[in-house]
Formats: sequence, structure tokens, C-alpha cells
Amino acid sequence: VNNEYDPIFPATPVDMFVEQMEYLAENYHALSLEDAVGRLICADVPDNAIVITFDDGYRDNYLNAFPVLRHLSIPATVFLATGAIGSEEVLWHDRVFSAFRETKVSWLNGIINDHRRYPLRNLEEKLSSQQEILRLLWALDDDERLSWIERLILKLEVCDRKERPNLMLNWDEIRIMQQHHIAFGSHTVTHPILSRSSVERIRTEIQSSKETIEKHLNVPVTTFAYPVGRSEDFNENVKMLLREAGYICAVTTIFGANEGGQDPFELKRATPWETYLPAFAAKLNWYKFC
Ligand SMILES: [Zn+2]
Repeated sequence: VNNEYDPIFPATPVDMFVEQMEYLAENYHALSLEDAVGRLICADVPDNAIVITFDDGYRDNYLNAFPVLRHLSIPATVFLATGAIGSEEVLWHDRVFSAFRETKVSWLNGIINDHRRYPLRNLEEKLSSQQEILRLLWALDDDERLSWIERLILKLEVCDRKERPNLMLNWDEIRIMQQHHIAFGSHTVTHPILSRSSVERIRTEIQSSKETIEKHLNVPVTTFAYPVGRSEDFNENVKMLLREAGYICAVTTIFGANEGGQDPFELKRATPWETYLPAFAAKLNWYKFC
């Protein structure tokens, strides 16, 4: 939620977010994620129930979204990739976004054993090439992905933005939000694709992020969001390890609404990121029938 109008990593403008949340406060029943999951299990979900979530832990959640949520008493959950919280480190996808944002190169080739040439001559080409490269990166295991990102950045002839102060939340901001109905869940430490990680790696990512948040906030952390979150980004093994680690639910980026009987470790979500309120309202209404 910000007014940067960055086409590489688009956001909801602040004024629009205010309108959307006012509309929600008036027409929907916003629940905390934990409450909603409890009610889903007991088939006791109120009509028009909705849960608001944010992934990764960007600082604009505190600067721009939190004042609006607080004013309207709307609960929300923010999923933190803890390696980037309270440090100046950026998540790997932000290194990719920065590289595409800053590059002056017109063509990219020789990337990820692919003989294709990706055009970067204008914004439209940059966006579609970036999306294709992200898809290739999502399909790699962690070490391979990180080494390809280094090469991608060299080929794009830009500085590697491994550190960016103030991009992500810090623990003081998180504690303030926590006092006003904002809950925090885990989104791993380093944002790996869990279905492509080893069992030890999955355990470390899901346990150590949980412990870090619990240490800073003094409350149990029971909610989780899968990095990237498509059906191919998690599996039964990851779900079992999450249960073992003490989580009660996990959200995906698989589109849809959730009904009684929904697996709490495969919660669906939707992205009503509209910049026109009637479109936002229509989208929410339509979700009820999905
Ligand atoms: Zn994420």
C-alpha cells in the first residue's frame, strides 16, 4: 500500500486503500485469521466473513495500511519473512525487481540454460520478461536460484541491491501494530520455495521464523503463508512439517473463497487490488460465488 506507482512491483494507492477498507467495514465482517480458521472448523463462519492478509512484511504495511486498519478497527495478519525483518537485507525477489527496475540493457540472454532472448526495450517488455524470468527462478532449488540471480544481476549490468534500509518492517513497528489487532504469522526466514527444499531446510525455515517472531512478540505464532504459494510450491510433506511445528493453518495464493471442510493448510486467497471502488466491490461480491 503506497503511492509510489512503481510498475515493477505495483501497490494499492493509499487513498484507494482507505476507500476499500471503509467499504469493507460497512459491508463485510472482518475476522482475524485465527478466529476465522476456528470458525471454519466448527462451521460457524458469519455471513460476509473476510480476512485481510499481507505477505513478506513491507514497511508500508505500517506506514500506510496500519493507520487505516487501526482507525476502522479492522484486524489483519502480516506474514513475515523474518530474515528481512529488523535487518537491512532484502528478499531475493526484491533483488530481481530492483535489477529489472534499474537496468538499461535492451536484451537479456543466456539465462537459466535457456536459449531465449528476452527484450527489455520498454516497460511492457521489461514486465513480461521479468515475469518469465521469475517463473524460471521459482522452478529452481534454492542454491541454483541464488546463483542465477547473481548472474542475472551481472547480465543486467546493475548494482546488486542486497540491502535496502527501511524497505521492510522493524520490530518496534511490528510491536506497535500488534497492540492494535494486527497479528503476525510466519512466511519463512528467506522465502524459499518449500516444495523444492530439503526436509532439514523446511524445518529450519518454518521453526526458526516462528521462534524469532515469538521471541520478539511474546505470543504463540500459529499461522503461516507459503512463499509464492501456488499449488506446486508446497506439498503434503510441507503441510505435515508445519503441523509438527505447531501451526494451525497456512494460506496459499490459490484463488478462491474458503468453505467449511476446507483444509486449513490450503486456505485460498484472492487479490482484489482494484483501483476503482465499484470494481473492488464487484470482485468481492463475485468471490462469494467462487
Ligand atoms: Zn512472499
